[in-house]
Amino acid sequence: MASYEEVMKLALERGFYFPSCEIYSDAPAGFWEYGPSGVSIKNKFIELWRRELVRFDNMLEIDGCQIMSKSVFVASGHISNFTDPIVRCTKCNSTFRADRFISEKTGENIPERMSDDEVNAVIQKHNLRCPNCKGEFGGVTRFNMMFRVGIGPAAEEAYLRPETCQTIFVDFARVFKTMRGKLPLGLAQVGKSFRNEIAPRQSLLRLREFYQAEIEVFCNPNRLNDVPKFDKVKDSILRLYDGSSTIQVTADEALRKELVPNKLVAYYLALLGRFYSKTGIDMTRSRFRKLSDDEKAFYSTVAYDFEVETSIGWLELVACNYRSDYDLKGHSSTSKQNLEVVDPSDQTKVLPHVFELSMGVDRSIYTILEHCYMEDDKHDDRIVLRLKPYLAPVLVGILPLMTKDGLDEKARKIHSDLKLDFDTFYDESGSIGRRYRRLEEVGAPFAVTVDKTTMEDDTVTVRDRDSMQQQRIKSSELHQFLQNALISSRQT
Ligand SMILES: [Zn+2]
Repeated sequence: MASYEEVMKLALERGFYFPSCEIYSDAPAGFWEYGPSGVSIKNKFIELWRRELVRFDNMLEIDGCQIMSKSVFVASGHISNFTDPIVRCTKCNSTFRADRFISEKTGENIPERMSDDEVNAVIQKHNLRCPNCKGEFGGVTRFNMMFRVGIGPAAEEAYLRPETCQTIFVDFARVFKTMRGKLPLGLAQVGKSFRNEIAPRQSLLRLREFYQAEIEVFCNPNRLNDVPKFDKVKDSILRLYDGSSTIQVTADEALRKELVPNKLVAYYLALLGRFYSKTGIDMTRSRFRKLSDDEKAFYSTVAYDFEVETSIGWLELVACNYRSDYDLKGHSSTSKQNLEVVDPSDQTKVLPHVFELSMGVDRSIYTILEHCYMEDDKHDDRIVLRLKPYLAPVLVGILPLMTKDGLDEKARKIHSDLKLDFDTFYDESGSIGRRYRRLEEVGAPFAVTVDKTTMEDDTVTVRDRDSMQQQRIKSSELHQFLQNALISSRQT
């Protein structure tokens, strides 16, 4: 199993991601950029999400603005509730996130809903002091994690969205009407969100600017078990964790044993599991963790975190929240607009409830890299990123064995014939072994080598990344070969 440090080293050396503004000393923490390999895997991950969730479930996708008006966040509760408790040293002014600081120092868990007075009492009880200067802490205060921006010369108050879902709630009524929606209806959006984290850390795992892929399923609260499409996923496996043990059941069993509250929730959890099983993540190291009351976000009534085990512990990749009518009610009363819709299935007017699948894209990509990282001790400890072909930044490398006798020209010709339809990489520098290694480290499933035989019979060797087996095929059949490989890998 790969460590965080190994993945990090590979990410930096092979162009997956790196710190933002890194040539400047005032580069703020918590901002990372995707390099060429990273962009490619991110885009392909999002395409897979579109394929397996958005298209599979006939959802609709929107693309909204990142800056939104203050009213949106008054209605959503973020202005008053989206805060972290902080403590400041009275002597040196160092600031810490109170709940994390306390649990790191004492092991005591500070639930999200604990009041500031209660947190103060815990600090007193353990006599906690500033770790930098031993100074005393002032009382707990609240820090709002939204980035405030000023619009125009008058600097009108607005905010960078802290989650992509608010656009979906604000736009819901219009989209439902113009697209002639039917409940339940999934509205999806992928894009950037911004949170002014007090202590960003671990590269892609806690960012201040990050990608979310969110799905809000609008549903009629009276028809949560009227979900015929559930039959399509009823045999899918769910791994449910209740805080002490994980059990593996089919979606159907989970429903019958009342481990999930209704068919709608069971259906979408199954769909999400089905999606992740296609990313290359080891699903035996995943679970849906049911959150207890004091762990849930302020708007949530039933919540599961989809978590995956990594070298640095269990990571939450997706928050699955049953948000009831919290959001539409809030936006409806703040905007004074009626956001009810007519459910065409029974012609009743209803303010829909919402079940959300809020996915962290960056964390998912980190997890995929870690789970696909393999050190092959049978073959010189080569590092192989065993990415699914449809997620690999490079599908095929094109390598002339030598740069003479026309081999390089032939290889360049093959490269230009393939590059518009596939992610290809032409490489003529260094020994063939070194070139294979570089391709394996970015997860390229295939390497095509042009050698002397190519010049005689127009065949090339195609080398498989994982088995290292080679086969000879006609260069004119490469296009079809790659096409087939992509499609068949998606079906397994
Ligand atoms: Zn101090």
